[in-house]
Amino acid sequence: MSASGDLQKMIFHVLKPGYNDEYKDFVRLSPNRAKAFPECPRCHCRIGPWEWLRPFRVKTTKSRCFGDLFTDKMVLTVSQGFREAAVAAQLKGLSFWDDHLEVYRSGSALFSQAPTYHVVHRNYSFTRIDPSGSGLVVQELVGCEHCNVMTRARVERLVIDELTWNGDDIFWPTGLYGACVVTSRFVEVVAQGSFANFTFIHQDEYVEDWQQGFFGSRSELNGK
Ligand SMILES: [Zn+2]
Repeated sequence: MSASGDLQKMIFHVLKPGYNDEYKDFVRLSPNRAKAFPECPRCHCRIGPWEWLRPFRVKTTKSRCFGDLFTDKMVLTVSQGFREAAVAAQLKGLSFWDDHLEVYRSGSALFSQAPTYHVVHRNYSFTRIDPSGSGLVVQELVGCEHCNVMTRARVERLVIDELTWNGDDIFWPTGLYGACVVTSRFVEVVAQGSFANFTFIHQDEYVEDWQQGFFGSRSELNGK
């Protein structure tokens, strides 16, 4: 087997909007959501947020400078251009609702300058992080061995347990509630298209310190 045929480890990144209010582009106006939250089939523990359902109406907190990623930190929406690039690159784990986002400036006036955004449909999977590789300090294990849902005190870096990864290019690992993880394939699509408003943290740079309420890159933490 040639060197190029060897199995290469995937590099993962965290998509930054997960926690920071500076990335909050809108608030949701329409309240519809799935009847139940997604749960672990074994222990019935909650593994993620309720899925938002149409109509997709939001009030923007921005007056200009709309990027290709537009989010309230939980729901991700993307521009038409990014959607086309993601489909062309065959990124996995990324699908879209047919309805566009309706962006309002106030409760009743549509914001005509806003680009067309597509709401990303969230897949639920049981990809887990490697606890020792990630330097994970568990506060409390809430779920079972299958879902590994927990509250954590500290994470030193992101190491995905690749045996539990289904190959998706975007996913929310169980046990790392709030963090959206993407592959380097996803990052390359963003770079090649110069898509705006995406910020990534390399897996070796990712740090969580719940005592300090910090989630971000190691260099940011050291600069605090
Ligand atoms: Zn479970």
